[in-house]
Amino acid sequence: MIQLSTGDMLRAAVKAGTPVGLKVKAVMEAGELVSDAIVSALIGERLDGDAAHGAIFDGYPRTQAQAESLDLLLRERGRSLDHVIELSVDEDALVERITGRFTCAVCGTGYHDRFKLPVVSGVCDVCGSTEFKRRPDDNAETVRTRMSEYRAKTAPILPYYEARGLVKRIDGMADIEIVAAGIAAILDG
Ligand code: AMP
Repeated sequence: MIQLSTGDMLRAAVKAGTPVGLKVKAVMEAGELVSDAIVSALIGERLDGDAAHGAIFDGYPRTQAQAESLDLLLRERGRSLDHVIELSVDEDALVERITGRFTCAVCGTGYHDRFKLPVVSGVCDVCGSTEFKRRPDDNAETVRTRMSEYRAKTAPILPYYEARGLVKRIDGMADIEIVAAGIAAILDG
């Protein structure tokens, strides 16, 4: 399966300076949601590409309209959703995780100021690079806006999937290995 992250697609568009990127840059920096039409078009393009063996949607759908568009996009292709996995995490813990995270600018390995520093300070464990980066929207103020967008627009779509028996909950406060094993068990089940 491939990972389809609308956030990654939007960040790539911003970096490349495409018309979509220019449109969404300020919205993303504020932590607000990008329009449903833009993200659904991005997902539609990718479903016609390399997702033949399945996809993990990451950060999508985030609104009821997106959930309905996804159903349509899948139906048109004779596909359907197998699971909706909710990772539940205490909000203060989430803010701490997000505001402290950074990645290697070369290979993308993830790190955290408190929970996972490189073994040798300033040097990537995996590729040896000394360049790291942080997302501009990973500051405390923007993260609070992202949380309130989640509560207002994304959490309300859970019942849509619950009614179809698709939602599986994972305790996102557990250790990384336990969370990963829980997700694997759902996908294997
Ligand atoms: P993420 O990488 O999933 O944390 O997304 C980063 C930002 O991209 C969000 O705060 C939104 O501004 C935008 N974004 C990503 N996915 C979506 C989506 N499905 N709907 C609307 N906006 C999105």
